[in-house]
Amino acid sequence: LFKPSKMSIIPIPCEELSTEIKVNSNTNNPDAAWNVLKEIIPKNCYNQLPLDTPVYENKVRFVCISDTHSKIDRMHHEIPSGDILIHAGDFTNSGSIDDVIKFSNFLKTLDHKFTHKIIIAGNHELSFDKTKNNKMLGFFDKNKINDQRDPRDFLENCIYLEESMVEIYGIKIYGAPWQPTFGGWAFNVDRGEPILKKWNKIPDNCDVLITHGPPLGFGDKVNGGYHVGCCELLTTIRERVRPKYHIFGHIHEDHGAWTDGQTTYLNPSICNFRYVPSNPPILFDIDLPEEG
Ligand code: 5GP
Ligand code: MN
Ligand code: MN
Repeated sequence: LFKPSKMSIIPIPCEELSTEIKVNSNTNNPDAAWNVLKEIIPKNCYNQLPLDTPVYENKVRFVCISDTHSKIDRMHHEIPSGDILIHAGDFTNSGSIDDVIKFSNFLKTLDHKFTHKIIIAGNHELSFDKTKNNKMLGFFDKNKINDQRDPRDFLENCIYLEESMVEIYGIKIYGAPWQPTFGGWAFNVDRGEPILKKWNKIPDNCDVLITHGPPLGFGDKVNGGYHVGCCELLTTIRERVRPKYHIFGHIHEDHGAWTDGQTTYLNPSICNFRYVPSNPPILFDIDLPEEG
């Protein structure tokens, strides 16, 4: 079943680009920003592939999940086979080394289902962000602040992306953990210019984009009924990068898939609002490029 890949899977580090993207004047009020933009940006439901769709020889099957919060072994849906598994962050609750090891061990049990597994961190992977932006570091375990160990050294059986890109089967996949500041968690970045500088590192030629937080307007609606996604991420996607797919999570209660006619946006949050792992994975296929 496995498709041979001659492609390099060595992560490509990415530098900040100078771009023309402008900060939205409503950036700190994303719900108001979306109220204006929704009149001009098309948003349609994307027809999700059923979970039992066979894996085709001439297509690369992506299976997407996020926000498993140390409950990946207790998901209500089985993870179907594919070629590439993507996890868009929040695989733990606090980034403890024990939980990272548990997650890595679970990934090993999926070896017969996937050739590659791609993981990014989310705001709950506290130990991955030792900067002072991360005010929650040490909240769950005071010892963590002085723990010199790098949790990335314990994350095994996958490709970990953090502002880096891999090329697999000729498909370029970029991943980054950032989300707009909320509560002072890991990889929080202020809206506007600071977060735009992070998105300016996404290469123009990226086909599949993975971030932890959603863009404005797609999979970003919280229980109160308002949008909290990132304006600058949406603008970067629509006006510069134009990836075929954008996979994210973070807002558990807006699981689903949409398209603006150019990019397909997927929020495959497995945990619901109450951190119960009840939602299904989301699948998509990309034609396998002909080798030449
Ligand atoms: P997590 O703590 O797993 O990152 O996020 C869990 C939940 O917190 C989300 O499903 C959402 O309800 C809420 N949340 C996360 N980020 C934001 C935000 O920026 N604004 C608001 N209002 N809620 C958020
Ligand atoms: Mn989460
Ligand atoms: Mn999150």
